[in-house]
Amino acid sequence: MHIHEYQAKTLFRCRDIQIPKGILIDNTTKINDVCKALGGDVWVVKAQIHAGGRGKGGGVIFCHSIEKVERVCNQLLGSKLITPQTDAKGLPVGQLLIEAKQNIERELYLSLLIDRQTHKITVLSSTKGGMDIEKVASKTPDKIIKFGIDPLGSLSVQDCTFLAKKLGFNTELTKQFNNTLLSLYEIFTQKDVNLIEINPLIITQENKLLALDGKIDFDDNALYRHEDIAKLRDISQEDEKERLASEYQLNYILFDGNIGCMVNGAGLAMATMDLIEHFGGSPANFLDVGGGTTADRVAKAFELIQTETNVKSILVNIFGGIVHCDLIAQGILQAIKTVGLTLPIVVRLEGTNAPEGLNLLNKSKFNIHVESDLTKAAIKIVKLTK
Ligand code: ADP
Ligand code: MG
Repeated sequence: MHIHEYQAKTLFRCRDIQIPKGILIDNTTKINDVCKALGGDVWVVKAQIHAGGRGKGGGVIFCHSIEKVERVCNQLLGSKLITPQTDAKGLPVGQLLIEAKQNIERELYLSLLIDRQTHKITVLSSTKGGMDIEKVASKTPDKIIKFGIDPLGSLSVQDCTFLAKKLGFNTELTKQFNNTLLSLYEIFTQKDVNLIEINPLIITQENKLLALDGKIDFDDNALYRHEDIAKLRDISQEDEKERLASEYQLNYILFDGNIGCMVNGAGLAMATMDLIEHFGGSPANFLDVGGGTTADRVAKAFELIQTETNVKSILVNIFGGIVHCDLIAQGILQAIKTVGLTLPIVVRLEGTNAPEGLNLLNKSKFNIHVESDLTKAAIKIVKLTK
């Protein structure tokens, strides 16, 4: 689960990580008071969406007058912001963070994540932070300092000091950096975080270390034990269909192809998409109805797939391990009766009671192409789609 920049900054502030003065707004009635309370004469208006790249997408705007702050806020609130990190539709802007402009001396990068190769919580840092960090990482990877934390130990002050030295900090900055990094590590480990990132972490002209941006991604599977974090969820930032799917315990992710897929098991879903691609087709989604799926869930999955306008055909691929194929066949027929069938459909059933299942589908009055072989099913659906 992602959270907004302002929420990440609140978590930072609670652990003594320094952030700029800022005020969150969702309407423009009190802009004058907000700017006055922040002080200074330049303000930064920052759109709160669950994506980065806002600086490049017109979501971080510098304003030299209160009138401009008001104008910019009116434009951004209620709009959809498209950045290099969103899709073409963009994300809705419901809140803005207004900050006093900081005097930036240097922009650094600092993050914590789990390195899948070393199986360690790893610190990534760089003196080349800011909006082009992706370019830095791909063109000059030696500018990224990587430090794996001993999984049996913890992040120590010595570790932080070692990194501070590599980043070229003096004694005063090292003290601030150590506090920041130790606090980040605390949040990371206590709140079951996947990724925590400050980009940029700045050094101001006044020699202060400040988190100018904040991004945190939490492990969904651990949210049940962090009520305070779960409350931060903003469903306006989530895809409506993907959200509905998660309510039915369906893993549903949209792509831009045209063959809708309904599969039980994530591995089988991946293999199914690979086969479709292999035979020249293009999957419209990843949909895992789960190992022990029910007729109800099958019906919901059907409904979701059929309402996607780009879907031109449907491939159902079920392996009956825990579930019985004849029950799945009944579920499919039930779903078709309820939501109708307007698209060509190929159903591949294999495993427990597969012959009974295929027989049920064959006997039905609907035009269902049945297969017990996955390769044949993939070839057929690609042909029907074309
Ligand atoms: P994103 O990562 O989505 O582009 P950031 O919050 O990192 O958004 O902002 C982009 C850039 O805007 C930063 O790299 C920084 O240079 C500048 N910036 C952001 N907030 C402030 C601020 N309060 N004062 C001065 N500059 C800022
Ligand atoms: Mg940023």
